[in-house]
Amino acid sequence: MALYAELHRHLGGSVVPRVLWRYFQRSESDLVQRFADYEAFEEFYTRPRNTLDEYLELHTLVEKVQTTETLPYFIFRLMRGAYVFENLAYLELRYTPYLRTPEHLSQSERIELMQSIVEVVGKASQVGEYPIVTSQILCMHTRLPYEVNRAIVDLAAQMPQYVCGIDLAGGDNHYGVRMDEYIELYSYARSLGINTTGHLYETPDGCHPELLPYLMRIGHGIQIPLKHPELLAQVAKQGQCLEVCPTTYLKTGTLQNLHQLKVVFDRCFEAGVDIAICTDNAGLHNVRLPFEYETLLTHDIIGFRELQACQEAAFRHAFAWKHQQRPESILSNILRAGQPEQPERLELNVVR
Ligand SMILES: [Zn+2]
Repeated sequence: MALYAELHRHLGGSVVPRVLWRYFQRSESDLVQRFADYEAFEEFYTRPRNTLDEYLELHTLVEKVQTTETLPYFIFRLMRGAYVFENLAYLELRYTPYLRTPEHLSQSERIELMQSIVEVVGKASQVGEYPIVTSQILCMHTRLPYEVNRAIVDLAAQMPQYVCGIDLAGGDNHYGVRMDEYIELYSYARSLGINTTGHLYETPDGCHPELLPYLMRIGHGIQIPLKHPELLAQVAKQGQCLEVCPTTYLKTGTLQNLHQLKVVFDRCFEAGVDIAICTDNAGLHNVRLPFEYETLLTHDIIGFRELQACQEAAFRHAFAWKHQQRPESILSNILRAGQPEQPERLELNVVR
């Protein structure tokens, strides 16, 4: 059985349409009335958007229903699906904890509540029956003020038992005016020993070389091989891995067809840059991780050797994976113990 490590999955986009629809029905949400039937909802939920901004709006819909009370409901179904249908041995789940706190509270009250959100997510994702090694990435967000983003970094440092890194989300086309702030936050995170990834070089307007040195992994990064191949040698030297999420680029209008990714893979392999294949928003796309791999293969974008290389790269660059163990052996250990492994914090200097 092939086992997969998933490094880039948003909690907000991880709910498959059927589970979300059933939740709306069970909670007697008004949203049910807006759609004639499930098919109409699925069509709305999974259809391609014209821009990254439009696409990210959908996250807001799900964020609103993911509260302290409902998170265990969604996460249990997520872990079950990831284990049964995706063969995941490892999963990093990312989200912005602040956006799961009640909107009517003050900023300081919401910051205060973030810790309990991380605990709820952490406990809910450790499901004995579905033993996936799992940890969280906390996302700073372009919609949030500096103080909140800084509190997110502090929280990541305070809760290594649940959190393995930080990210920056909200659209890399919006970083420009606040770039100094993001650099300062990432630099602060690195000084605390926190692992870093960040949405960058996803869209043509998201190419910010000044942020690149602070990232251990690059969320998407496809514009580097596409538009700035001169940076590949530096990326390879710094051991940074690209988190490539094929279906996303079609849904956000960033690419018109999957074949455009062939250049991405070819140039990265040639330059020695690792790629982890990920789903980004598996639920929103209704596409699971093994299918992302299979699609690349059937479209002749990669071959079996490259597929295997990407599979191994994902484990190698996982922030909370015990790197001395192979996927098979760690899985059998977990099954023997009957309990999921506790994620461990990795030191920054493990990056090659
Ligand atoms: Zn993402």
